Amino acid sequence: MRKKIVAGNWKMNLTLEEGKQLSSEIKDFVRQNPLQNLKGQPGVILFTPFIHLASVAADVAESEGLEAGAQNCHTEEKGAYTGETSAMMIQSAGAGNVLIGHSERRSYFGETDEVLAKKTEIALKNNLRPMFCCGEVLEERNAENHFQVVKKQLEKGLFWLSPVDFAKVVIAYEPVWAIGTGVTASPGQAQEMHAYIRSIIAEKYGDIVAHNTSILYGGSCNAQNAEELFAKEDVDGGLIGGASLKAADFSTIIKSFS
Ligand code: PEP
Repeated sequence: MRKKIVAGNWKMNLTLEEGKQLSSEIKDFVRQNPLQNLKGQPGVILFTPFIHLASVAADVAESEGLEAGAQNCHTEEKGAYTGETSAMMIQSAGAGNVLIGHSERRSYFGETDEVLAKKTEIALKNNLRPMFCCGEVLEERNAENHFQVVKKQLEKGLFWLSPVDFAKVVIAYEPVWAIGTGVTASPGQAQEMHAYIRSIIAEKYGDIVAHNTSILYGGSCNAQNAEELFAKEDVDGGLIGGASLKAADFSTIIKSFS
């Protein structure tokens, strides 16, 4: 079912102690501001580094609507993959979510659409909710190829799923030129792409599935601009990088639905 979501991507930041501190501050915020009483009744997900995952998952377990997630998983269930972490391990750590296809994974770690399709499959098999990231680089937008790029990412990464499995996925549209740059897509640009994404989901899976899909915006979303972005009809919340590292900013973003 379509839901408003604010997700924090901590990336490779924070020591274990700092991570515990941040999750406990967010937990305090949620205790004082029950999510079901806030506008939009958002769910909140903390995508932590693996080192933090089990402790954050345990910390937020009793907080209604607050969940933990991993930033990546391996394509295989288990085996001789030194340094890697499987979807099954993430599930066993008490986390229910996993980011798939963040642009930093695509560009720095060479993750292809085919690899991301496998990661999505193994995540679903292990009862994790994939948050699948898509988005164009600046050259692609300047060349007016952005719709085609995003369409291809979704077709290869997700559109082979059954309708039942597709309904478990959350999509994050993250224009690469906006990630960590301080340049945000305008609310109009975000809405235009989100509406397009919903339209191609409708073509593939039908109007009801499209209507029920949560599509988040990510890319320099912060406490100042979240409200305007989240006010757009097809923007169901945000995937937040830098601004998720400060409890005060992240809390303001959680309250930014109208
Ligand atoms: C991200 O990493 O998903 C992200 C959106 O980062 P930032 O908010 O820092 O641009």
